[in-house]
Amino acid sequence: MKQRLFTPGPTPLPEEVRLAQAKEIVHHRGKEFAEIFKEVRQGLKDVFQTKEEVFVFTTSGTGAMEAAVANLLSSGDRVLVIRGGKFGERWAEIATAFGVQVIPLDVEWGSAPDPGLIKKKLTAHQEIKAVFTQLVETSTGVVYDIKAIAEVLRTTEAILVVDAISGLGAQSLPTHEWRIDVVIGGSQKALMIPPGLAFVTLSPKTWSFVENSNCPRYYWDFKKVRKALDKNQTPYTPAVSLICALRESLRLLRKEGWENVLARHARLAEATRKAALALGLKIFSKVPSNVVTAIEVPSQIDANELRTMMQDGYGVEVAGGQEELAGKIIRIAHLGWMDGSDMIAAVSSLEISLLNLGCPVTLGKGVAAAEKVLRE
Ligand SMILES: *Cc1c(COP(=O)(O)O)cnc(C)c1O
Repeated sequence: MKQRLFTPGPTPLPEEVRLAQAKEIVHHRGKEFAEIFKEVRQGLKDVFQTKEEVFVFTTSGTGAMEAAVANLLSSGDRVLVIRGGKFGERWAEIATAFGVQVIPLDVEWGSAPDPGLIKKKLTAHQEIKAVFTQLVETSTGVVYDIKAIAEVLRTTEAILVVDAISGLGAQSLPTHEWRIDVVIGGSQKALMIPPGLAFVTLSPKTWSFVENSNCPRYYWDFKKVRKALDKNQTPYTPAVSLICALRESLRLLRKEGWENVLARHARLAEATRKAALALGLKIFSKVPSNVVTAIEVPSQIDANELRTMMQDGYGVEVAGGQEELAGKIIRIAHLGWMDGSDMIAAVSSLEISLLNLGCPVTLGKGVAAAEKVLRE
C-alpha cells in the first residue's frame, strides 16, 4: 500500500531532494562543496529572514537546542522557560543539565503564553539572562506570539531564544525585523530534507553572551563555527549529502516564493481544521499553528486505535499525542512538501476510520469542508 506521511517531522521528500542525496559524495574542503555551501548559506539567511550567518550543525534539532544553552549561559545563570508542552519541557531539561537555573512559566497544554505574564516574570526576576520558547509547540499544535514576546524583551537585557524547529518555513518569523536574538531550525520539517541538520542564527548582541559563557562545549562551539565560516567551511566534516539535499530544497522553496510557501501552509492548515470541525471534532489548540493540527478524538475512541486504522487501512500516518495527551489527540501535519490533494487524502482516511470505529460521522463532510477552503 502507498504510504503517506503526515507527521510533524520527518516530512515527505520531493524527488529532487532525494536524488540530490544519491549523488557521489564530494570532499567538504573541495571546490565543488564550497559552491554548494555558499548557496546554502545564502538560502538559509532568506529562510531565517536575517543578514546574520546561519550555523549548520550535523544533528537533529535537539543538538542545536543544547548548543544554544552551552554557548550562551553559565552554570548558575537564571533563565525563563516557557513550558507549554513537550518541547518547552525539553528547554528546561537541557538548561538543568548544564546547571542553569530554570524559572518556568507554565502554560496549560493547548494554550499560548501571555506576553503580559512574561513581562511580570522578567520584572520580578531582573537577573533572568534569557527567555527560552518555541515558535510552534509541536506537541500541542499551538503557535506562540513571538513578535509580542520579543517586544516585551526589548526593555530588558535578556536575550530571546526561539526554538523554531517545526515553525520555520511554515509560520512567518522575520528574525531581523522582530529583533529575535537566537533562532533555531531543523531539517526534517518545513525544509523538506531528512533529519540530521540543525541551524542556529545569532544576533550581534548575543555574542557578548557567548564571550561570557563558561558552560563546557567542544563540538558545539559557536566561535569555532564562526571562524570556519570565514573560510566558507564548517569546523568538522558536515553531513555533505544532507547539505546537497538542502540546496535542492532551498531552490524549490525559493522558486515557489517564500510568501507562497507560508500561504500554502496557512491554507492547508485551515482546510484541515475546517474538515475536523465539520466532522464534529474539536481542535485541541487554542491558537492553532500552520504546522500541525491537533484534533481531540471523541472519548469513546482511543486515538492510537484511530491512528492504526488510518495507517494500516489507508496508508495515512499521523502523529499521536505525547505524554499526557497520549491516546487523546491525533496530530495531522501539513508541513513541508504538502498540497491540497495530500490533505484531502488525510481527511478522507480520518472520516472512514472514524466511521469504522463506530463514530457517527457522515462520509464526505470533512472532505467537503476542506475542499471549500482549498477552492477559495
Ligand atoms: C521536532 C522538534 C524539535 C527537535 O527534535 P529532534 O527530534 O531533535 O529533531 C525541537 N523542537 C520542536 C518544537 C520540534 O517540533
